[in-house]
Amino acid sequence: MRRFLIAGNWKMNCGPKETSTLLQGIKDIIEDMPEAVDGLVCPPTISLTTASVELQDIEGLALGAQNVHSEDNGAFTGEVSTEMLKEVNCEYVILGHSERRQYFGETDKTVNAKVNKALIDGIKPVICVGESLEQRKANEHKLRVKKQVQAALIGVEDEDASNLVIAYEPIWAIGTGETATPDQAQKMHAMIREEVADLYSDDTANQIRILYGGSMKPHNAEELLEQPDVDGGLIGGASLKADSFTDIIHVADELSESN
Ligand code: PEP
Repeated sequence: MRRFLIAGNWKMNCGPKETSTLLQGIKDIIEDMPEAVDGLVCPPTISLTTASVELQDIEGLALGAQNVHSEDNGAFTGEVSTEMLKEVNCEYVILGHSERRQYFGETDKTVNAKVNKALIDGIKPVICVGESLEQRKANEHKLRVKKQVQAALIGVEDEDASNLVIAYEPIWAIGTGETATPDQAQKMHAMIREEVADLYSDDTANQIRILYGGSMKPHNAEELLEQPDVDGGLIGGASLKADSFTDIIHVADELSESN
């Protein structure tokens, strides 16, 4: 049985002070994560140290970064390495988010290099894939996402593959208030899982968590999370408020209990 993973992508929001306030707000509401649900917050790089300290008081809520470089160190101004992330207790890193692909020149190739580096160094990648509205309208969404998954996983060994997380994030649903229907999400998640099974094995495919991302909110979380291949959410806007983030955590907890 896969456990739900409820992950917050804070994007370029919350410096160290706001990070403390938000995490204390989350702590005030849930104390610790419910036993059946894994949690993750991904603040901006500058707030990771603060978050790491705050998270010592919240059991089950892990820390992740929003990007990492594929080299160990050197002349890469503005970048951070896997070792630096580990030093501040990052367990996960979001890779290939559509905003990084769109605004910062990330390609399938750079994403793949980062995925391999993160896995080798013991950080779990949350690999983002998803189609544009044009691609969906042209009925190219399945092919596009399949290719992104294949490209991201080049060189990843079977024994490492179960450590990664894939987030299906239709670009047209990110930050727009528009959400994929539960049926659209389920179909894409099932296809991604099938692709992982083809690349590795049924066992690996059954272990990998596939998150849905794209305007997940407390009011639509249940219908998305109850889909058999939706193993959690990568949440932007709704992760920036303690009450909406914890509401989604509660939805996941209730669904885990009823399963
Ligand atoms: C995201 O940034 O990954 C995301 C899904 O954002 P939002 O929930 O705001 O659509």
